[in-house]
Amino acid sequence: MARLVMVIDTRKCVGCMDCVVACKTENNVPEGFNRDWITTEVLGKSPNLQMEIRSERCNHCDNPPCVYCCPTGASHIHDYGGVILVEHELCIGCKACLASCPYDARFIHPDGYADKCTFCIHRVEKGMNPACVDVCPTHCMYFGDIDDPESRVSKLISTRKYHTNIPEAGTKPQIYYLT
Ligand code: SF4
Ligand code: SF4
Repeated sequence: MARLVMVIDTRKCVGCMDCVVACKTENNVPEGFNRDWITTEVLGKSPNLQMEIRSERCNHCDNPPCVYCCPTGASHIHDYGGVILVEHELCIGCKACLASCPYDARFIHPDGYADKCTFCIHRVEKGMNPACVDVCPTHCMYFGDIDDPESRVSKLISTRKYHTNIPEAGTKPQIYYLT
C-alpha cells in the first residue's frame, strides 16, 4: 500500500510563497486562513549562521493525535496513501484536534468544520501532484510513495540528510526537509 509523503529541499526553497498562494487558490481557502505557510529559522553558531526556509503544512503524521482525539471519527486516516483528512459532515467543531496538533496545522473553517492541508487528495487521486508542488518555481518540493524504493522521494531521503519538524512529539511526521 502506498504511503504518500512530501520531501522539501530547504537548500532550494527561496520563500517566495507561491506554494501558499497556489494552495489558497486551489482549495478556496477562506480569507484570514492558510493551509500552508513559510517558516524561517536561523541555524548554527556565529559566524557560521544559516537560514533555513521551510514550506510547512499538516505533516500527515503516521501517529496522528488529531485522529485519535476526535470524538466523532471526522478526523481520519484516508485509505489511500495514509493521508489525514477531515469528513466535514461528521465534524462538530469541538477543536480537540486543533489542541492536539503540535504543528498548529488546523483551523476552524467559517462553515464550522476543522480544516487543513489535504495533500490536495482531489488532485492526487487523479494522478496529479498537490498544487503547491506543481507551482514551485525552484522545484524544491517532491511528492510520492515512500513505500516504493524506486520513487523520487525514497531515493532523496536515502541519499540526502534531512530532518522532520518536532519529531520529539512522537507524531511521526511525513514531511521530510532536506538540509
Ligand atoms: S500535523 Fe497535526 S493535523 Fe496533521 S496529522 Fe499531524 S497532528 Fe494531525
Ligand atoms: S473539531 Fe471536528 S475533526 Fe476536530 S476533533 Fe472535533 S469533531 Fe473531530
